[in-house]
Amino acid sequence: CGIVGYVGRDKGQRALDVVMEGLARLEYRGYDSAGVALVGGDRVETAKKAGKLVNLQEELAAHPMPETTTGIGHTRWATHGGPTDENAHPHRGGEDGKLALIHNGIIENFHSLRGELEADGVQFTSETDTEVVAHLLARNYAGDLTEAMRTTVNSLEGAFTLLAVHADSPGTVVGARRNSPLVIGLGEGENFLGSDVAAFISHTKQAMEMGQDQIATITAEGVEVLNFDGTPGEGTPFEVTWDA
Ligand code: GLU
Repeated sequence: CGIVGYVGRDKGQRALDVVMEGLARLEYRGYDSAGVALVGGDRVETAKKAGKLVNLQEELAAHPMPETTTGIGHTRWATHGGPTDENAHPHRGGEDGKLALIHNGIIENFHSLRGELEADGVQFTSETDTEVVAHLLARNYAGDLTEAMRTTVNSLEGAFTLLAVHADSPGTVVGARRNSPLVIGLGEGENFLGSDVAAFISHTKQAMEMGQDQIATITAEGVEVLNFDGTPGEGTPFEVTWDA
């Protein structure tokens, strides 16, 4: 339902703070669960809880997250699978704990994709339509998260905003959108992704609208937009005119 992505230069609690603040600002959309993933070391760490953000905050207080530059966060409005901790996002793909993914929307062909993955021995830990995307992305990953996302989205039907992080691509968040919104926030030495500008409004007013069927790769230093067909894409810059 609500999505935040962040990459900056500085470690400390910055990534977690930005992501949690963004989620709080997206609360108006309504949600039933919330979660975050941070890229730290050779694993991606996740925390997720059914219920209000305060439940996630308590979980984070009980199990502190690593200090990182890079994170993603999600508030869920369940469509497939009840509002449980397991069904909350982020979802992990692969078995090495290196990849995490969040999703707004509905993957219409998840049932057949799940059947194929299960026939191949993939174990699912949730009832969501989203988890198939995490496993596909892990399978398609060969060192380049943007390329893996591009291959993956071309096998999906439906409406989706997706954000992913991978421990072997540190300092990077990759987002994709089809029939569901995703906006880029442009900072100095830090960049943002959000399901709407509320996700980053207190940090920057410089934003970029993405087109249909596009992928954005953000690092602390820059932003790259690519079309699902592999051609270079272009965002539309705009300035946010309302105050935080
Ligand atoms: N369809 C996904 C789920 O049920 C995402 C829902 C959302 O947009 O929050 O987990």
